[in-house]
Amino acid sequence: MPGGKLIRKSGVKRYILSAAQECVAWAYKRYENPRRCQLEFWSWAMGLHTWQLLRPDTPAAKGLLEASGGWPWLQLQRRTRRFLEKLFAGIGSDKPPLVRVMPRGLLPASVDGEGIVLRWRSPVTWPEKPWDWVMFLLDDLLSDLDGVSLDVVGRCALCNHYFIRAAARRKNYCSDTCRNRAVYQRRKGKRKHGQRTLHLALKRAGGSEERKP
Ligand SMILES: [Zn+2]
Repeated sequence: MPGGKLIRKSGVKRYILSAAQECVAWAYKRYENPRRCQLEFWSWAMGLHTWQLLRPDTPAAKGLLEASGGWPWLQLQRRTRRFLEKLFAGIGSDKPPLVRVMPRGLLPASVDGEGIVLRWRSPVTWPEKPWDWVMFLLDDLLSDLDGVSLDVVGRCALCNHYFIRAAARRKNYCSDTCRNRAVYQRRKGKRKHGQRTLHLALKRAGGSEERKP
C-alpha cells in the first residue's frame, strides 16, 4: 500500500496512528506490575516517553502519576481491552456497538506556538472515577481515528489480537514476536512434514523389502 493512504484526511498527523497503536498494544500487554501498566497508560495518553513521565522537571506528569497511583490498573486495562475488542469486532456489522461518551463542545484552547486554537472536546470538568478518565482519553483517541482508512485496524493472524497499522505497509501480525513465531512454526511444520515423508518412504521401502522372498 502506498505511504500516506492510511490517513485520508489532510492535516491529520501521523502521530495519531502511533498513539492508537500504542493504546491497543497497551490493552493487550501482560503486566505483572500495575505500576508499569500505569506508566505505559499515561505514556500513550500523554504522548510522552515513560522516561519523560518520570523526569523530576515534569511536575504535571508527577501529579498525574501520584493521583492515579491507587487506581486498579490491571482491571482498567482488562476493561479497555474488552471495550476495544467489542468496537473492533463491530466494524462493518449491521448493528455496531454504540458508546455513550462525554458531552463535547467547541472550545478555545491555547497551544504553544500556535496561539489560540479550536478544540472539539469535553469541557474540562475532569472525571472523578478512574474508568471515566480512561473513557475520556479513549474517546479523544478514537475521535482522532475519524476519517482514517479501514485498513488501519488489523487482526493478528497468530494470536487474534487486534492491532493498529501505524505504517502504510500491510502487516498481518500484531508484533515482531508473533511474526517471528509464525515463521518458526511454518519452518517447524515444513521440517515435520519432511521428516514424516522420509519416515513413510523408509517404511514403504522397508515394507517392500519384507515382502521380498
Ligand atoms: Zn499477535
